[in-house]
Amino acid sequence: EGAVTRGEIRVEQLDFAYRPGLPVLRDIDLHLPAGSFHGIVGHTGSGKSTLLSLLLRFYRAEAGRIRIDGIPLEAIGEDEFRARVGLVPQEPFLLAATVRENIAMGRALSDGQVQAAAAAAQAHDFIERLEQGYDTPLGEGGARLSVGQKQLLSIARALAGLPRILFLDEATAHIDSETEQLVQQALARLRGRVTVVAIAHRLSTVRDADRILVLNHGRIAERGTHAEL
Ligand code: ATP
Ligand code: MG
Repeated sequence: EGAVTRGEIRVEQLDFAYRPGLPVLRDIDLHLPAGSFHGIVGHTGSGKSTLLSLLLRFYRAEAGRIRIDGIPLEAIGEDEFRARVGLVPQEPFLLAATVRENIAMGRALSDGQVQAAAAAAQAHDFIERLEQGYDTPLGEGGARLSVGQKQLLSIARALAGLPRILFLDEATAHIDSETEQLVQQALARLRGRVTVVAIAHRLSTVRDADRILVLNHGRIAERGTHAEL
């Protein structure tokens, strides 16, 4: 079984359809060096989440291949994959538990590790402002968080596992611009340590990305930096 060491991702000539004859992704070629930050933008239905699903092995491509650190995706053990690849899903979920437990998610983490993850996710400040800080109950019957705060918490949860690769499927364009800036900073600061692939609804969220891919009807229509696009 292969191990994820650096977090380099290579995608070659990937094609995918949920149903035969209805291609959703076509001819996708990508190279994401370890520690780089890539943004993915595109209209609704263009295939952004589908591409992440394939990278996460939720589905299998019918043609083409995906390798991480040179290892075919399917040859990476499940535990290894889970430990090294973090996901911030499009719809973050909260447990009916404290902020601390929502970040630790059953992993044996010290308070320092939980706080370091929250700090890296730019979530520490808003957590400290909650009535009971890291002990504040969330989820059903718990404190209400904004969509943006949930996203920051979800980033903290993913980073607490010290992943080599982080996938983020931004929930919505409807987060306030202050939170958006926090997400933007958190992602940019991971450069060099974590390979980040972030689906964004606004180009501004991924303005600091090394490269932004524009998906259009399942194909990469453009790629370049924020300044180039
Ligand atoms: P959004 O910005 O709305 O999240 P997206 O770019 O993430 O859109 P996808 O969710 O990847 O788009 O969807 C791409 C296409 O695949 C759409 O036509 C969608 O209807 C279809 N699709 C997505 N998920 C499924 C599924 N589980 N089964 C069948 N078709 C699907
Ligand atoms: Mg999507």
